[in-house]
Amino acid sequence: MFPKLYNFLKNQGVKRLSFLSIDSKKRRNVYSHSPFFKISDKIYIKSRVFHFVPVLYPKQVKLKNLKRMKTLKIRLLITFVCTSLVIFSSCSKDDEVLRDNISTDQTDDVSDNSDDGNDNDNSPSGRNGEITLYKVNGEIITKIKDYQVSGQDLAYQQDTKKHQDIWTLVKKVMPTAYRSKMNEFLIYNGEANGSAGFVFETAQDLSKWRMGIAINFADNQQELTYTIIHEFGHILTLNNDQVDASISESSCNNYFTGEGCSKTNSYIHKLQSQFWADIWTQYQTAQSSQSGLQQFYNSYSDRFVTQYAATNPGEDIAEVFATFVTRNSGANGNSIAEQKIQLMYNHTELVDLRNYIRGNLGASSRSRNSMLPVPGSWKQANSFGNAKKSHCSIK
Ligand SMILES: [Zn+2]
Repeated sequence: MFPKLYNFLKNQGVKRLSFLSIDSKKRRNVYSHSPFFKISDKIYIKSRVFHFVPVLYPKQVKLKNLKRMKTLKIRLLITFVCTSLVIFSSCSKDDEVLRDNISTDQTDDVSDNSDDGNDNDNSPSGRNGEITLYKVNGEIITKIKDYQVSGQDLAYQQDTKKHQDIWTLVKKVMPTAYRSKMNEFLIYNGEANGSAGFVFETAQDLSKWRMGIAINFADNQQELTYTIIHEFGHILTLNNDQVDASISESSCNNYFTGEGCSKTNSYIHKLQSQFWADIWTQYQTAQSSQSGLQQFYNSYSDRFVTQYAATNPGEDIAEVFATFVTRNSGANGNSIAEQKIQLMYNHTELVDLRNYIRGNLGASSRSRNSMLPVPGSWKQANSFGNAKKSHCSIK
């Protein structure tokens, strides 16, 4: 029960969430498969999956974050108790409220293509971290709306140069042909939900997507680059060329991504059918609890390029893609994790994509100016993922 995080995701029409957090005392990774989004299936009208990349903290703020987490734990405990009381005392009423909100949000999300800047939605305040929403027009981004923000968020909003700098980096990672799949670009504050980036579809047929980048986690150039590559990995593998949204889960003979049925030749279906199918039953059982998923990862760690990749096939392929792009050498060895990277190399269009990104980021120069994350360093940072930095409050 993290109301601010919950509301933010609810506003995006989220159906399912997975993220990585860390227990700061024991310094071990903890998977949370968001049981709090399963309060009631009735509240989910739309089928949407939210894809997060873990927040990658610069080393110098780790200690600060650990201190914050102590405070946060106390707040979360208080919030949990209070929220539980609210839910148990008025469950049916809550469901109605949630249903109403999602209905509004659907309109907001899906009809943003025609949003002319008139804020008729219920959440123009940016209280869930939103700062500025842009429409993507080829090479440029055009402002759709500024959310009503104050304080630090206002400073972030006014720093349009930073917005443009981030967008420039996005263009270096996403070639025009792939960028046409993205029609919205959101600058937001990741403090509200503990994420560094996200994507979700803005068109039912998965032909258009929104990418959000947390401006407050964008100072470290390499980590920002990693976030963008990871998020692009989602759009690359979940768009309408790869996934058919018109086929329901019950009619899907291939891997069902959550947004739709993956096509037989899609990257994600190949990855899931070749490298997950034999452990799929175990995974489905394991994913219902943190300890189960941790145990699942421990048993099959040689199958995954990062721990975060074990979250689900969607995160797996985003992490494989990020590794494929950022690692200087090719696949090393015969482990399943390496076979997944080889799967990327088996597609010439993906090799071209890798070359495009690395060329734009100065990877070949081996200079200090290279913006590519160093493999291993970001993997380590990966273990400091989403720290649930939302400020818990009940209104
Ligand atoms: Zn992701």
